[in-house]
Amino acid sequence: MQVQLERVLEQVLARNPGEREFHQAVTEVFESLGPVLERNPQYVDAAVLERLCEPERQIIFRVPWVDDTGQVRINRGFRVEFNSALGPFKGGLRFHPSVYLGIVKFLGFEQVFKNSLTGMPIGGGKGGSDFDPRGRSAGEVMRFCQSFMTELYRHIGEYTDVPAGDIGVGGREIGWLFGQYKRITNRYESGVITGKGVTWGGSLVRTEATGYGTVLFAERMLATRGLSFDGMRVTVSGSGNVAIHAIEKAQALGAHVVACSDSLGYVVDEAGIDLEILRQVREVERLPVAEYAARRSGAHYVASARVWQVDAQVALPCATQNELDENDAKRLVDAGLLAVAEGANMPTTPGAVALLQSAGVLYAPGKAANAGGVATSALEMQQNASRDAWSFEHTEERLAGIMARIHDNCAETAEEYGDPGNYVLGANIAGFTKVADAMLALGVV
Ligand code: NDP
Repeated sequence: MQVQLERVLEQVLARNPGEREFHQAVTEVFESLGPVLERNPQYVDAAVLERLCEPERQIIFRVPWVDDTGQVRINRGFRVEFNSALGPFKGGLRFHPSVYLGIVKFLGFEQVFKNSLTGMPIGGGKGGSDFDPRGRSAGEVMRFCQSFMTELYRHIGEYTDVPAGDIGVGGREIGWLFGQYKRITNRYESGVITGKGVTWGGSLVRTEATGYGTVLFAERMLATRGLSFDGMRVTVSGSGNVAIHAIEKAQALGAHVVACSDSLGYVVDEAGIDLEILRQVREVERLPVAEYAARRSGAHYVASARVWQVDAQVALPCATQNELDENDAKRLVDAGLLAVAEGANMPTTPGAVALLQSAGVLYAPGKAANAGGVATSALEMQQNASRDAWSFEHTEERLAGIMARIHDNCAETAEEYGDPGNYVLGANIAGFTKVADAMLALGVV
């Protein structure tokens, strides 16, 4: 790593102790930026790197709520407004017991570059809570959402900061969050949050967008080697929003998707995942993925193990950070892996990324491959601003165009910087340059 970058990285590590995931995300981006700084010393002179690593605003708040037994519970809420050089802060809310400041900051930092890559006018931010929705009744989750929004509402707005969903926050939770925002402010401000239901300001394709977009990116990446999804053996981690829609799109393109998972284990279905059963189990009944194997003859369940035990030509990590490590990567490479596209954020550990790249596996980092979700959120904001509602076909066409542009931008940037096929380098440099130029234009703010 270049000396200037090393110096800033040291400061970032020292100023943000204990935030392991944030350190990992910053280090990964910095490893790509050496050649950019050589060509553009103005970024160093204006301390763009130091400014990029310091969120514009960080909000931490108490979220009190009452459970079904009448007991008062306390969780911690976060919103990290990272960078608004390109537009209002934009990024999801995660409800998961593992959430702490370091996770929210890694996600917010990644979001800045991802949102830049979409080409849409959106800055980066992220938020969430250490609240665990699993095992909670609908009433408990609604009361939690209402309490969370009772503080968050004063920090967000159509032109300020626009949250959306992430792990543990789907369409149901967005409804309860928006309902409370509307109630407190007495404003039907559709553009304040995305991922809304289509009858109350949402956009068609938003629910599908992250998973679909990941597969569309992978399709274009495979095409650079004359490959396609048709007949390809695919495994997917997770069985939430991103995973289910990645499976749906991969199957539509002819892929043979044989396994998916949740935090407890994975299922293998050599006949191909039956999406109808998977949706019923996970989305409707909200049961663990093990139940899929119980209902589908020929499928089997493996508890307490990762889905990467299953051989695949294309692996789509769509669950969570650092879920595919060096051992997993080595196994998959030895078994003939051709490509990895990340639906999740930072799911592949740095050691695994290095191993995949040196083995010649096509590797698409999340900040590029899963940008279709936030891009379609920006399309939702466009529809809200013009009080319009686009058709599914039109919106999906827009998403496909955006994913193709992101892919080509990453590929061309990697080539321009002398490392063709390195999507990590391409995504980091293309994402960074646009934000850095906007920061220079806006002065020291
Ligand atoms: P969901 O909550 O819908 O699904 C998450 C899935 O991942 C579930 O199957 C869950 O299993 C599994 N999972 C969660 N934590 C872990 C863990 N620690 N170990 C193993 N599995 C785990 O979330 P999404 O599908 O929305 O998000 C998945 C990923 O995609 C996240 O990394 C998110 O940041 C990223 N992403 C999401 C976007 C979106 O539009 N929703 C946009 C861009 C990125 P279980 O139910 O057992 O917890």
